[in-house]
Amino acid sequence: MTVIRKQDLISSVADALQYISYYHPLDFVQALEKAYHAEESTAAKDAIAQILINSRMSAEGHRPICQDTGIVTCFVNIGMKVQWEDTDVTVQEMIDEGVRQAYTNPDNPLRASILLDPAGKRINTKDNTPAVVHINMVPGDKVEVQIAAKGGGSENKTKMVMLNPSDDVAEWVEKTLPTMGAGWCPPGMLGIGIGGTAEKAAVLAKESLMDPVDIHELMERGAQTTEEKMRLEIFERANKTGIGAQGLGGLTTVVDVKIKTAPTHAASKPVCMIPNCAATRHVHFTLDGSGPANLVPPKLEDWPEISWDAGAKARRVNLDSVTQADIETWTTGETLLLSGKMLTGRDAAHKRIQQLLESGEGLPEGVDFKGKFIYYVGPVDAVGDEAVGPAGPTTSTRMDKFTEMMLSKTGIAGMIGKAERGPQTVELIKENKAVYLMAVGGAAYLVSKAIKSAKVIAFEELGMEAIYEFDVEDMPVTVAVDSSGANAHQIGPETWKVKIAEMD
Ligand code: SF4
Repeated sequence: MTVIRKQDLISSVADALQYISYYHPLDFVQALEKAYHAEESTAAKDAIAQILINSRMSAEGHRPICQDTGIVTCFVNIGMKVQWEDTDVTVQEMIDEGVRQAYTNPDNPLRASILLDPAGKRINTKDNTPAVVHINMVPGDKVEVQIAAKGGGSENKTKMVMLNPSDDVAEWVEKTLPTMGAGWCPPGMLGIGIGGTAEKAAVLAKESLMDPVDIHELMERGAQTTEEKMRLEIFERANKTGIGAQGLGGLTTVVDVKIKTAPTHAASKPVCMIPNCAATRHVHFTLDGSGPANLVPPKLEDWPEISWDAGAKARRVNLDSVTQADIETWTTGETLLLSGKMLTGRDAAHKRIQQLLESGEGLPEGVDFKGKFIYYVGPVDAVGDEAVGPAGPTTSTRMDKFTEMMLSKTGIAGMIGKAERGPQTVELIKENKAVYLMAVGGAAYLVSKAIKSAKVIAFEELGMEAIYEFDVEDMPVTVAVDSSGANAHQIGPETWKVKIAEMD
């Protein structure tokens, strides 16, 4: 009989979450490096370069890869012969204590993103608890834990369908993937669950994402099972969509496709697809009663030496003196290096602004968006001499519903975020001669190095969703929608889909 101590599980979970906050799995780094070397689209190649440089910086600096440090998801396999030394707490409670310790670690605080009362007041629990825990009782005398920190942007793009038994899963994936936009920060992985019931398919899809990237090994040895054949087919079809890194158009949209299946009803074919983003974060450990897990740090030499310099081809922009006439000369696809002051704001801040404007109260004192750029971000808290912790962009599409108000009532000059804007928002940008700029999702630590100072100027009680003023120096962004309405997220994938078809 193996006896597992409460403290061993708690500290293993805490260590694992710190570990994955700054170490990408090496198989994912290697897959991205392969994609980088193969990429022919300049915009996509630049984006992958920034993700890889950010990954190395995070590993070196022990700071989060992405500002969204995720919702903790665990698969815990408990051997039937295991006995727990402490029976006053549940496995869920032990894991939550590990999460609490990891996310409030003063050396590397992680962003608390979990809200209570999701359908109502949405109150932040402040320590990222509770985790989503799946427990399986299995044969044996060990406890095996697979733990991930899943970003909201990629989780939000999950798709589920109850197909007819004769429907083709690969065809559904190919049709559905372009509807997911770029908010899941490709390149990443697709986890697909097929069979069981609706909820079982979702759990299978999530669990499949815990496996290492090995599609190229599968290609070499050849597919033997139905699932393996389907993985290869979907991998090829997904990459032929031309979506590319960050949805800018390119050769690599996914670095692997994972599939798990379960027996299902004769009348059903439940399918769930969950993407994993550029901040793919997971690790596995086993407890056998001998103490906490020992997670071996990877070596920095395992990261590729990739350099990226926007300098020569980029246009330098001073945000403190930029004019409307300047903005109208920027063109879609162009790289800008921003310096000067910008304001931040995301979901909760926009909602507050809307309420204040509708009530006639007006914006809080000191908040003036006129002629300014708004950056959609919720940063990680700073440590040491940092101005701010990792501060990459959040998905702009969620702010589409506020864009008309922000353009017409606050006078913003432009927006900075990640992923595509909806067609109505693109039209609004064009009508207002505004602009939408894109930073690379999943390169949050790299972006934060351009932020020289940060101060909260309104809604402090919203925590990471407060309005900050950032003073930035040479912050790299790409023009994603210019003042004429030319849209990189439409043009890029369309162009690359055709180019890839021509390459065949
Ligand atoms: S890489 Fe993108 S989707 Fe993933 S956690 Fe970061 S912002 Fe979210």
